[in-house]
Amino acid sequence: CGIVGYIGNEVSSPILLDALRRLEYRGYDSAGIAVISKEKNLQVRKIKGRLSNLELLVEQNPVEGSCGIGHTRWATHGEPSDLNSHPHTDVSQSIAVVHNGIIENHGQLRTWLEKHQVSFASQTDSEVIAHLIDFHYNGDLLLAVRESVARLEGSYAIAVVCKDQPDILVVARKDSPLVIGRAEGATLIASDVPPLLSHTREVQYLNDLEVAVLSKDSVHIYNLEGEELSRPCETIDWDM
Ligand code: GLU
Repeated sequence: CGIVGYIGNEVSSPILLDALRRLEYRGYDSAGIAVISKEKNLQVRKIKGRLSNLELLVEQNPVEGSCGIGHTRWATHGEPSDLNSHPHTDVSQSIAVVHNGIIENHGQLRTWLEKHQVSFASQTDSEVIAHLIDFHYNGDLLLAVRESVARLEGSYAIAVVCKDQPDILVVARKDSPLVIGRAEGATLIASDVPPLLSHTREVQYLNDLEVAVLSKDSVHIYNLEGEELSRPCETIDWDM
């Protein structure tokens, strides 16, 4: 399983699909992407099975935009199916999330969200994250993600896009890997280094219980209390 993300000047979907290919060695049962267009449309394509299924779906029904996230899923909660594939969205389809890991308290969070009139589309533990972020969202995606991940128990690497904010990508992690790549005019994220190497060798590692806001030319890393942290870039000096 794996997560990827891209924000930059290029068309994002081929880059996301290529990055997912380079994470195939981690294993998966389904795959998906979500891309935000300049016109602030959130487009989600996801499907059970091989990445070639997703590539075909995107070919038949293309997505536009330079900001997006992608996922290969190894199902833990909910069978492998199109609906249970990631990305997951909130009810109004304005926020999309990809998640690797397991949310241990998803049952309690689901009950709590359902009391707040949220209806669920999948059987996954991950879907609670999209609804929680929407619940906490008030124009500030970083704050909404910080407040949401503070309520999660378990493991997660997540990447979040919001159609109101096509110029940023927000990521967070705990007990699941996530690396940020700094390229010329683009910022990428992935579960592991290989997908980044065709774009850059400059990386920043996100640590547990940290959240980062990425734009095409900046990265800001915070702890869950919202204090900004400094994180030097490291240069990858090995070859694949
Ligand atoms: N627990 C989540 C699910 O079953 C994420 C699995 C993964 O890490 O791919 O959908």
